[in-house]
Amino acid sequence: MFADLHLHTNFSDGTYTPEELAGHGKRLGFRALALSDHDTLEGCERMAVACAVNEIEFIPAAELTAELDGHELHLLAYYVDAANARLLVELARFQEVRQNRIREMVAQINKLNVPLRAESVFEIANCRAPGRPHVARALVKQGFCHNLDEAFDRFLKKGKPAWVPKFKMSAVEAVDLVHQAGGVAVMAHPGLNRCDDLIPALADCGMDGLECFHTKHAAAESAHYLRMAEQQNLLVTGGSDCHGLSKGKPLIGGIKLPYWRVEELKKRAEQNAARAKQSAGLS
Ligand code: AMP
Ligand code: FE
Ligand code: FE
Ligand code: ZN
Repeated sequence: MFADLHLHTNFSDGTYTPEELAGHGKRLGFRALALSDHDTLEGCERMAVACAVNEIEFIPAAELTAELDGHELHLLAYYVDAANARLLVELARFQEVRQNRIREMVAQINKLNVPLRAESVFEIANCRAPGRPHVARALVKQGFCHNLDEAFDRFLKKGKPAWVPKFKMSAVEAVDLVHQAGGVAVMAHPGLNRCDDLIPALADCGMDGLECFHTKHAAAESAHYLRMAEQQNLLVTGGSDCHGLSKGKPLIGGIKLPYWRVEELKKRAEQNAARAKQSAGLS
């Protein structure tokens, strides 16, 4: 009885379709899976069907990028109402920002005499939430780089010539956005963003949980964040952050979150949805 609560499909920068991802989930024996594509919920409809076919419980989610005190952090928005008007407006805005950012990154790459075209990136991305991995894939496909690592190292990593900052909403606003849509707000991979000092403030703002288990967290880091979650009274989640194959193997399967954590998450979602409904009725 395990879950993976952090997965991407080709509706953002993952390579699997929802059907392929659910198929891997079935093969690996998962009881529940959450789809958390960047800045979109579009893949959730198909993922819900694919999970039902494979007798897997499906949890809708999206991964938002936010900022606090100059630090970038990622917020997983679980169980949000996919019809929530304010959320849909914000997601559309984040998607537009992503598309404009692709054009800016390509322009920077062109300045270095690499004649990549934005259209070839959009063609590869074939989704509304394109990101740096799509630029990297286009660079490799067109023969401008040997592999994705080279594309990131030469052009796309923070501080490299084609790195373009992304518009980010403040983390406090993002938590509020998730809550008014009846969802549960969880900080993704805290070990990657290294902003532990901000966690108590975010917990005070109502952030619900911490992704203690993640592919890139060493065992000691997971233990550290588990202690922190306990101290701050935060829910504990975990996921592989699978974007497809990693070193020739599907990344899904590497993190197995005990299913009772999903039940805790669901309980919180019910409370948050009831509260959102009540405040919507009041306003
Ligand atoms: P973006 O949201 O456009 O800034 O792209 C971030 C995504 O790029 C992450 O979700 C990862 O999927 C991927 N990524 C970030 N850094 C690297 C890297 N060094 N090598 C490969 N992929 C990366
Ligand atoms: Fe990604
Ligand atoms: Fe992330
Ligand atoms: Zn992710």
